[in-house]
Amino acid sequence: MKTTKFLLFFLLIVGAISCQKEETEDSLLQAEILTDDHKQFLAQSSVNPENSTITTIDVEGKAVKYFKSNDLLLEYSEFENWLDQKDAPSQAKQFTGRYTISPLYRRFTVLAGSNLTRRARIALQDAVKAVNDIGTSVQIGIKYSGTADCVVTFYTPGPFENGQAPLPNSSGRPGSFINISTRLDSDFVKMKQVLIHELGHVIGLMHQDWKTLQSCGGGSNSGFVQWIPGTPTSDREPSVMQACANGRGATKIFSASDKRAINIIY
Ligand SMILES: [Zn+2]
Repeated sequence: MKTTKFLLFFLLIVGAISCQKEETEDSLLQAEILTDDHKQFLAQSSVNPENSTITTIDVEGKAVKYFKSNDLLLEYSEFENWLDQKDAPSQAKQFTGRYTISPLYRRFTVLAGSNLTRRARIALQDAVKAVNDIGTSVQIGIKYSGTADCVVTFYTPGPFENGQAPLPNSSGRPGSFINISTRLDSDFVKMKQVLIHELGHVIGLMHQDWKTLQSCGGGSNSGFVQWIPGTPTSDREPSVMQACANGRGATKIFSASDKRAINIIY
C-alpha cells in the first residue's frame, strides 16, 4: 500500500513526454551537473539519478526547469520544496512519531471500557468507523468485554484536558489505551472529535501544529517527529490532529489531508 501511494504521488508530479530526440534537443536550453542533494532527491522520487540531467524547457512561452530521465520530466521546483523541508523537520507538516503500526498489528481491537456510557460507546463506534472507512490496512474492531489491544475508558482530567493516548510502541503495536474526559459525555460531537483525535495518536499521528501549538494559542514543543512526505506544510491546515479541539484549523472529523496522511503511512 505504502509503495503504491508513494508512486502515485510522484506520478502526479512527473509529466511524461514522448522521447523524440529532435524535440528534446530543440527545447534543451542548458544542462547542469547534479549535486549530491539532487541525487538524493531523485533517488527518493524513484527516479534513477545516474541517467538524469537538468534541463530548461520552453513550455508555452515560459522557461521551466526540469530533471530529465529518459522521457520522464520532474519539475525542478519539487526539488526546491524538498530541499526546504529536508533539514527543517520543525516546519509544521503532518507527522508521525518515531513508530507506526507494523503490518502484523494493523488489524487490532479496542475495548469499550465498562465505565463508558451508552452515548460514549456510540461515539466510539463512529470514531472507529471513521478510521476504518479510510480504507487502509489499519482496521479496528470493537469489543465490549474481555481484553483488547487498546482500552477506552472515562477519566477525570485537569481543566484543559479532554483525553490522552499513547503512540504506537517500538514493537509496532498500536497505542494501548485512550482516556477520555467524563465531561465530554454532555457533548456528543466533541466526544466523537476527541475520540477520533486520540485514535489518530493510537495509530501514530502527531499533532499537526506540534511545533507552534497555534491551535492552543501558542507554546513550545519538542520531541521526535517524522514528516509524512506528501502532506501539507501549514500548521493551520484543517486537521482533527490540531493539538487543541477548539483552535484554528481543528476539524471535528478526519480532514482530507488527515486521510491523505493515513493513506500514505498505511
Ligand atoms: Zn493530541
